[in-house]
Amino acid sequence: MEYLQSIMPKRKKIALVAHDHKKAELVEWAKRHRDTLAAHELSATGTTGSLVEKETRLPVQKLRSGPLGGDLEIGALISEGNIDVLVFFWDPLAAQPHDPDVRALLRIAVVWNIPVVSNMASADFLFSSPFMMGEYQRLVPDYEERKRKDWPLRG
Ligand code: PGA
Repeated sequence: MEYLQSIMPKRKKIALVAHDHKKAELVEWAKRHRDTLAAHELSATGTTGSLVEKETRLPVQKLRSGPLGGDLEIGALISEGNIDVLVFFWDPLAAQPHDPDVRALLRIAVVWNIPVVSNMASADFLFSSPFMMGEYQRLVPDYEERKRKDWPLRG
């Protein structure tokens, strides 16, 4: 696999998502990291975004609620290069009606090699990284190059 380089700026675009039983945890975590979050641009699925905005008093771009397409909207932003970091507290103990969307979101974060954390401990580790407040050189898989190699005749 070939890679391209993409510079993540100091001010990052962070997406926040929490399933219902995980919303309290995400809000508590966001309050603890309010100062760091304030240095970045936040977006979130609808309900999560409203809660984080209310509890932290930070501006959050609110997309649709997760089950109504919000997870997919965030996935689209990631694939367009418009999200740098995904904080997604998904619930391992409850079935979700939009499970295919949840899996799609987690998958696309890996496809584009952005940091994705799914619980409070990993979110704490991520937020203690110097890359959060500095630039980071992200390697982006060159899928066009791979396509040319796999299907050389199709160009
Ligand atoms: P919500 O969506 O923030 O609108 O509740 C989150 C989800 O369930 O994916």
